Amino acid sequence: MTRAGRTISDPDNYVDGEWTAPSADGQDVSNPATGERLATVDFSSASDVDAAVQTATAAFDQWHRRPVEDRIQPLFRLKRLLEAHLDELATVLVREHGKTLAEARGELRRGIENVEVACGMPSLLQGGHVEHAAPGIDETAVRKPLGVFAAITPFNFPGMIPLWFLPYAVASGNAFILKPSEQTPLTAQKLFELIDEAGFPDGVVQLLHGSVDTVDAILEHDGIEGVSFVGSTPVARHVYETAATNGKRVQAQGGAKNHVIVSATADLSYAAEKTVGSALACSGERCLANDVVCVEASVYEEFLDLVVAEADRQVVGNGLDEETTIGPLISAAHEQRVREYVETGIQDGAELVVDGRDATDAAADGNFLGPCIFRDVTSDMTIATEEIFGPVLGVMPVESVEAGIDVLNESDYGNAASLFTDRGSEARLFRRTAQAGNLAVNAGTAAPMAFFHFGGQKDSFFGDLHAQADDVVRFYTDETVYIERWPET
Ligand code: NAD
Repeated sequence: MTRAGRTISDPDNYVDGEWTAPSADGQDVSNPATGERLATVDFSSASDVDAAVQTATAAFDQWHRRPVEDRIQPLFRLKRLLEAHLDELATVLVREHGKTLAEARGELRRGIENVEVACGMPSLLQGGHVEHAAPGIDETAVRKPLGVFAAITPFNFPGMIPLWFLPYAVASGNAFILKPSEQTPLTAQKLFELIDEAGFPDGVVQLLHGSVDTVDAILEHDGIEGVSFVGSTPVARHVYETAATNGKRVQAQGGAKNHVIVSATADLSYAAEKTVGSALACSGERCLANDVVCVEASVYEEFLDLVVAEADRQVVGNGLDEETTIGPLISAAHEQRVREYVETGIQDGAELVVDGRDATDAAADGNFLGPCIFRDVTSDMTIATEEIFGPVLGVMPVESVEAGIDVLNESDYGNAASLFTDRGSEARLFRRTAQAGNLAVNAGTAAPMAFFHFGGQKDSFFGDLHAQADDVVRFYTDETVYIERWPET
């Protein structure tokens, strides 16, 4: 089916091994650095979702019977294809998202890492076995796939986040449907061209473009066993509640407000470089971006000067230019929202010591905002409590590392936190008491490798089993305990 007015650059659904147009009207996809219209993404209706689920159910019936060794072979091919097309994929990603080429390449390498880990599915699927568990009895735990799973993903890592789920879901024997962000559908399109080439059987891996209605159709469809979600906290909560009400497994990763604590013992230049790097990378549109840095009072002024110098070194521009370090924000609406937070910070009494509000690329009609650094932020200010998702960093004096930990523990969110210190006792206190799913000492971004799970706490995560590695394999499988009794002879 071809919808009227569609062009070759408009993304299609990938269902049953075929490219088909989604059947509901959608929205334009624009380059956030230039305003150029790149494509129109149409949205999948409830009947598109139903057709994909029917196909996936039939594909699952065959796929899960295939040996795990067979099921990982398309993943080995996908890894090679992703590596061979990395620069091409990175360029598509930068054009629709805005981040820099280096950031896009880094994100794709993180995605490939997940494909590599999922290639170890023969080991990941191993259950437990107890020989002679009771007189004449042996017991074995067997991990079995469940059927059709879906993942709903955000705009900010369109190349990586689908790969937190897809390789594990299919290698463990399930069929999988991806609903990527409608703001960045072209990276998913390119990814699925490679998936098509990798040679999965038809229907095992499918792509449905769409927005809110498509998500609701997924959450309500009886044929879907479980849903993985990554996005903002209000939507994560909605997905968690609706999917659970409809009897599905669900893991829902939400938004974040990440804190950094700087001890007076830290290497301050290094801490400033890493803190600012993490706050401003991808224009702050990362769930692991640093938002608030709590600095011990005795080194507050010295650290602040270093932060300002780091921020002044940034180059705002089109992510395709190699010298750019900060690209545009995803949309004009989001740029406006972030600018409003900057105004709120000023009104609430924080001092804007680096003002990026005029740092636009004169040659481009993009959604640019330069680095905005606030000093004298207090823990009750809106800019210290709400997720901004822009290149905005608040610096706050605290009496001690322990007081900094108290500040981060007051947050509703719990995705990530970092401590810079030269003292083991402070590192240990931080490890024991800081409430976040990902903690880093002397590193700016607490991003775990793919062989560890990834997920937050508090309002940053709804569910129990997280993305990546063994956790997500458990999410995609059910464990049957198999008991055999043979009288001893
Ligand atoms: P979003 O919540 O707006 O959208 C995420 C997905 O949900 C998209 O596919 C979108 O189509 C769908 N969606 C949006 N509104 C919906 C609604 N009302 N009902 C049903 N579905 C809906 O998030 P975003 O703006 O694309 O991404 C940014 C957010 O994602 C930030 O809050 C960021 O912190 C978060 N994020 C979290 C993690 C993590 O691991 N915790 C990782 C990346 C991004």
